[in-house]
Amino acid sequence: MKFTPAKPSLHGETLDSLGARLAEAGEPAYRARQILGWLYKKRAASWDEMTNLPRPLRAWLAETFDLESTSLVLGRQSEDVTDKLLLELRDLSLIETVIIRAPQEGVGLDQSRKTICISTQVGCAMGCVFCASGLAGLKRDLSAGEIVHQLVQVCRREDAHTPRARAELASFDNIVVMGMGEPLHNYENLLRALTILNAEWGLGFGARRITLSTSGLVPKILQLADEAAGFRLAISLHGATNEVRGQIMPINKRWPLEELLPAVRTFSDKHGRMVTLEFILIEGVNDMLDQAAKLRDIAGDLHAHVNLIPYNTVEGLPWKCPSLTRQQNFMAVLQERGVSVTLRREKGRDIDAACGQLRLKTERDRAASPAA
Ligand code: SAH
Ligand code: SF4
Repeated sequence: MKFTPAKPSLHGETLDSLGARLAEAGEPAYRARQILGWLYKKRAASWDEMTNLPRPLRAWLAETFDLESTSLVLGRQSEDVTDKLLLELRDLSLIETVIIRAPQEGVGLDQSRKTICISTQVGCAMGCVFCASGLAGLKRDLSAGEIVHQLVQVCRREDAHTPRARAELASFDNIVVMGMGEPLHNYENLLRALTILNAEWGLGFGARRITLSTSGLVPKILQLADEAAGFRLAISLHGATNEVRGQIMPINKRWPLEELLPAVRTFSDKHGRMVTLEFILIEGVNDMLDQAAKLRDIAGDLHAHVNLIPYNTVEGLPWKCPSLTRQQNFMAVLQERGVSVTLRREKGRDIDAACGQLRLKTERDRAASPAA
C-alpha cells in the first residue's frame, strides 16, 4: 500500500528540511532559498535551468531528489470551463487535477478566476457508494511532494497561455481539496503540502483561499480546528438523517451525525468562518423534500452555507441526477428560511469531471488493452 520512490520529491521539502540536507552535504544555507525559488517562482522543470547553482550542486540534487514526481499524460479541455489534467506518478498510478474557470463579465476565459481541484490519494478507502474514486478502494496516499507538484503542473500549464500569469505568483485564485481521495485520511502529508504552498518561499498561497472537503473524519476535523492556519472546511453531508446518509456513506456508521455536527460546530466556532455543507442530489435517494427540511435545520443551526450538487452519473453505477425541477424544489425549501444556498451548475460533464472518473476510464482502458 505504501510506495517508496527511489528518490524523494524535492517538492516535498520545506525551507528547513532542505536547509538541513544541504548543510549535511556541506552547502551554504542560502542555497535552499535559491533552489526553492527555482521550483515555485520559476517552475523549473529541469536541473539545467537552475543556472545560478554550481554544476556539482545540481548533480548532487539530481542524485538525491526527484524533480518530476508527476508527469502529464493527458490534458483535456471540456466544452465548458473546466480543464482536466490526468497525471501519472512514478509507480504508474494515475491521479486527476482539475482547473475550473469561473467566467466573469467582460473578461476572457484566460483571465477569469481559477479554482484548482487537487487529489490527495490514489483511490479512496471510504467507499461512498456513488463515487468513482472509491470503487476500487485505496491504493496509496500521495506524498507531500506529489500533492504540491500538481499545483506546479497547473502553474506551468497556465503560464504558457495566460497573460495574467507572472513569475513569482500562483496563476490561480483558489484551491479545493476535492479531487480523488479523502484528504483527512492523509493528514500529515496534506498538511505538509499545504504548508509548502502557503509559505512565502513556496507559492505564497493564502490559507483562506484553500478549502478542504471531508466525508467526516471527526477526530481529524477536531485536529484541523486546532491548526493555526485558517483553511476553509467543506463537509460532504449528502444525507440529512443517519438513515439516508448511512445508506450511501459507510463512514456515517463510524461517526454518525450526532458526532459529526458538533465537530463541525467546534471548527466554525474556532475559526469564526462559515463551513460549507455539500449535498449531492441523487434521484430517489436523498432528494426528497423531508431531507431538504432537515438539511435546512442543520444548516441553520450551524450557520453553514449549503452547496447543492447535481449528481454526475458514473458508468456502471445505478444512481441518477434528479430533474431540474426537483433540484429547484429542494433548493426552495432551504431558501424559504433564508439559508445561504447555491445550486451548482454541472461542469465538465463531457470530460468526466466528477471525482475520479477520468482516471477510472483510463484504468479500464488500460486493463482492456494492457500493451497500450
Ligand atoms: N473525499 C472528500 C473529497 C473528495 S470528493 C469528500 O468526500 O469530501 C469531493 C466531492 O465530490 C464530495 O462532496 C463528493 O461527495 C463529491 N462527489 C463524488 N462523486 C460525485 C459524483 N459522481 N457527482 C457529484 N459529486 C460527487
Ligand atoms: Fe472518498 Fe470522497 Fe469519494 Fe467518499 S466521496 S469515496 S470520501 S473521495
